[in-house]
Amino acid sequence: MKVPLLDLRAQYAALREETEAAVRAVFESQHFILGPAVESFEQAVAAYCGVPHAIGVSSGTDAILACLMAEGVAPGDEVITSPYSFFATAGCVARLGARPVFVDIDPGTYNLRADRVAERITPRTRALLPVHLFGQPADMDALREMAAARGLTVIEDACQAIGAERNGASAGGLGDYGCFSFFPSKNLGGAGDGGMVVTRDPVRAARLRRLRNHGMEPKYIHPEIGGNFRLDALQAAVLAVKLPRLDGWTAARQRNAARYERLFLAAGLTDRLTLPDVSGRGGRDRHVVNQYVIRAPQRDALREHLSARGIGHEVYYPVPLHLQPCFAHWGHRPGDFPESERAAAETLALPIYAELTDAQAEAVVAAIADFYRSA
Ligand SMILES: *Cc1c(COP(=O)(O)O)cnc(C)c1O
Repeated sequence: MKVPLLDLRAQYAALREETEAAVRAVFESQHFILGPAVESFEQAVAAYCGVPHAIGVSSGTDAILACLMAEGVAPGDEVITSPYSFFATAGCVARLGARPVFVDIDPGTYNLRADRVAERITPRTRALLPVHLFGQPADMDALREMAAARGLTVIEDACQAIGAERNGASAGGLGDYGCFSFFPSKNLGGAGDGGMVVTRDPVRAARLRRLRNHGMEPKYIHPEIGGNFRLDALQAAVLAVKLPRLDGWTAARQRNAARYERLFLAAGLTDRLTLPDVSGRGGRDRHVVNQYVIRAPQRDALREHLSARGIGHEVYYPVPLHLQPCFAHWGHRPGDFPESERAAAETLALPIYAELTDAQAEAVVAAIADFYRSA
């Protein structure tokens, strides 16, 4: 049996009529840029996250970029972030001429170690940019406290973590800004690119609305330089159909994770593999399991074995950010962030999408068991 890493067709089949009606309504209105569909989806996301303001943008990347721009991050500034994330996290900082300053991750959560942040703060530090990797909130209490004591801004890269919670509060609403992505593989995925920034601060919200539209306010007057970071009405319409289902899909992801745990235990693999703890610190947090990531000995050989068997998998991420070629001028070396490098070498994401069946999960575990039997 072949198992894809992600299969969105089953989700679409359940939403086909509603989605097509929502898309048709946008076509009938011929209102494609911002407008009522975007506004109503913004309000729905704000309500879902329990924050007053949500600003629809063109992608998760542009969400992060716009927040950094709204804070005036500029050449010479430093932003503290994780070296183990998707490229956009550090890429946005570098695009503004600022420097991402990395802090290594906790090997259990893959999130940056808050207790190592203080030693990297300098007079040039402007913001903390934690990532809620794989759907689990970073240690926001500690980070927020540190930021408040030093007058730093906290921007959450919550691109993988819509719906996640830390001590009962929603990801995105924990810092000064929260950034979401609606890339199709995220837990709430659009029919293309899209993103959102949420914030509690009305001044920041107004600035973001201006920045996403070329820094323009009023029309054709540009007090500052922004970009075209607008969310499409068509994407907003599609996403508005999906948002009410998000909690159900998250629950299914969590059930899938629990099923993997049972199957790996039954296969006698729990001493070879390190399974993720998706309990959210024993129930205090909510992990939304955007990715189910194991640590596996002989990871690359296992990948080949799974590919040959048609079992979907991916490595998020094979090269940590401090070792990316485009950042070579900062002079990082292998060994600078050992836990990030170890995670890049050892981890493997398995299929975890909501519609994954029992038989599919069994096929994934059987293929892995087979590899270690012959290894
Ligand atoms: C997906 C993702 C982004 C970028 O989002 P896009 O919508 O693809 O631009 C940024 N950071 C993280 C951690 C992500 O997973």
